[in-house]
Amino acid sequence: MKYVGAHVSAEGGVQNAPVNANEIGAKAFALFTKNQRQWFSNPLSAMAIKEFRKNCEKYDYKPFQILPHDSYLINLGHPEKEPLEKSRKSFLDEMKRCELLGLDRLNFHPGSHLKAISIEECLKRIAESINISLDKTKGVTAVIENTAGQGTNLGHTFEQVKFIIDYVENKLRVGVCIDTCHAYTSGYDVKTASGFKETFKKFDEIIGIEYLKGIHLNDSKKEFGTRVDRHENLGTGFLGNETFELIMNDDRFNNMPLILETPEESLWAQEIKKLYSMVKQT
Ligand SMILES: [Zn+2]
Ligand SMILES: [Zn+2]
Repeated sequence: MKYVGAHVSAEGGVQNAPVNANEIGAKAFALFTKNQRQWFSNPLSAMAIKEFRKNCEKYDYKPFQILPHDSYLINLGHPEKEPLEKSRKSFLDEMKRCELLGLDRLNFHPGSHLKAISIEECLKRIAESINISLDKTKGVTAVIENTAGQGTNLGHTFEQVKFIIDYVENKLRVGVCIDTCHAYTSGYDVKTASGFKETFKKFDEIIGIEYLKGIHLNDSKKEFGTRVDRHENLGTGFLGNETFELIMNDDRFNNMPLILETPEESLWAQEIKKLYSMVKQT
């Protein structure tokens, strides 16, 4: 079973996210559990938690259909002590918010070396940041997203993601989310059937398919290998439709959140319908 949805707004409170998801016919959704442009927000109120859980039940969203995303300010591999500590504190808070909401995974971009430390040193810091958060929480898996490799962002190769996982102590609570736009612009050809096959063969060989906990369904405004992170609506970017047809007809992507982060929100309902219409009846 495929669970397709979008990164919906949680404006007015997290409890509104499942309502917004249901409105566009989503069977999955992503959300920010706090203002993504702030390091810290007020704690979730008991009312918000209760209403969130109630609405998820009402519209039939289970934890495995929900992929919360952390704040973009966080850099878990920051080269300097103070911002690293701030990032770790903020990330732990995000993990705890997920825990309170009864969610089982948190998606994040691994981190950036900012040209101040080596790639390996940065990846080790990221793993250590994950270890710290996993130690202090229960039931929430840290889901590393592959990046486009823009600037000094790490996580743009499967080897880097694997390196992080190797240093994470609790392998049962670390996972990976593949963003189709990031994969393509970082140099993985997910556009053609043969390239797609090869990419996920590599993913399985290097990381292991059992680590896959979600997919971000984005077309790309930028060409192959440009290492630029610019999402496009489905079928109108450099990827086109085939990537998404392949995903919708591949059992490896069953039972996990498949999330649109495409720029034109008014198209989400249509895009969800389109994705489900790609499923070939057998
Ligand atoms: Zn993404
Ligand atoms: Zn992106």
